[in-house]
Amino acid sequence: MKKQGSDGSPAPVMPPLPEPLKDLKIEHTKIFINNEWHNSVSGKKFAVFNPATEEKICEVEEGDKADVDKAVKAARKAFELGSAWRTMDASERGRLLNKLADLVERDRLILATMETIDGGKLFSTSYLMDLGACIKTLRYYAGWADKVHGRTVPIDGNFFTFTRHEPIGVCGQIIPWNFPLVMFIWKIAPALCCGNTVVVKPAEQTPLSALYMGSLIKEAGFPPGVVNIVPGFGPTAGAAISHHMDIDKVAFTGSTEVGKLIKEAAGKSNLKRVTLELGGKSPNIIFADADLDAAVEFAHIGLFYHQGQCCSAGSRIFVEEPIYDEFVRRSIERAKKYTLGDPLKPGVQQGPQVSKITSFLVILDTTILD
Ligand code: NAD
Repeated sequence: MKKQGSDGSPAPVMPPLPEPLKDLKIEHTKIFINNEWHNSVSGKKFAVFNPATEEKICEVEEGDKADVDKAVKAARKAFELGSAWRTMDASERGRLLNKLADLVERDRLILATMETIDGGKLFSTSYLMDLGACIKTLRYYAGWADKVHGRTVPIDGNFFTFTRHEPIGVCGQIIPWNFPLVMFIWKIAPALCCGNTVVVKPAEQTPLSALYMGSLIKEAGFPPGVVNIVPGFGPTAGAAISHHMDIDKVAFTGSTEVGKLIKEAAGKSNLKRVTLELGGKSPNIIFADADLDAAVEFAHIGLFYHQGQCCSAGSRIFVEEPIYDEFVRRSIERAKKYTLGDPLKPGVQQGPQVSKITSFLVILDTTILD
């Protein structure tokens, strides 16, 4: 058996990689509020493209402030005391999250194909890595649902004192395009496990898998209004979330620049709580006594994984002087071996950037570091 890690533990078992779906149908292109599909209030739609072919896949309803308002009203109602969600046993919330994991597992091939067509991610990465992580994350938080508890506090006097964790309320969640489904699940699963309701805005480049999840959320049996999904653009739909007076918390993953705007909006509106997961510059440090083949390979994976479009991409490499020239030579050699092409095709190692703007940013980033 193949070993991994210094403790000799076995490598994780991956499911066999199937062929991507050839005739994927995109059925969910509307705004998801109260477990129903809505047109945008403005009547606007936006086009979604396959970055590998630059062909239009479909048009999606374009949500903005009016649609966010509708979604927040639904989420607030679902959060009211006495609602189906608030009176639900914690273990039942866990069961619903596990049911959702079952449905994602059932539709793994659909979702993985969709993720690749919408965002340009290699199909093998979508199917094995991203979908695997989504299913495990849902099950992880399903397990937490009935294990979130407070403490008893031994204070002086004849008192019984305890703490209790309460859900925050309506959570706005704004996510990026590089891991559309993983980010969607990372955001909704912990919020739902603790009993919150959510309004999610997927990235405008990659809204399709989040919208598909709306159909699974309904099928799993989550009460209406618990999860609402508003596709749209950052300065309109995203800003409406961060400025909203009836959203209690906003969780954001994306650029540092927009993270600053979100914090500012929270301060200027209702001082909502904010969680920010922003960009980084993750260095590798390689010393002269390193195993050079392994160092080149891991530095390479660290930088090129998902076309370099990762917040944790190893885009800074510090190399000790005696091996610097050799490291650069081998790294260039390694990079030249890459097979570029259609991310749906087997054997392709690098697909397209998600958009022309991102291609520009990645080139700029690499050039500056050169
Ligand atoms: P972005 O910040 O422009 O977009 C992310 C999300 O924020 C999208 O849904 C977008 O519509 C929304 N948004 C944009 N403007 C907004 C506004 N004014 N108010 C509210 N929401 C708004 O990021 P990007 O261009 O998609 O990604 C580029 C940067 O993000 C890179 O630096 C990358 O490192 C970082 N990033 C980090 C992570 C992470 O996991 N930490 C993930 C993806 C991207």
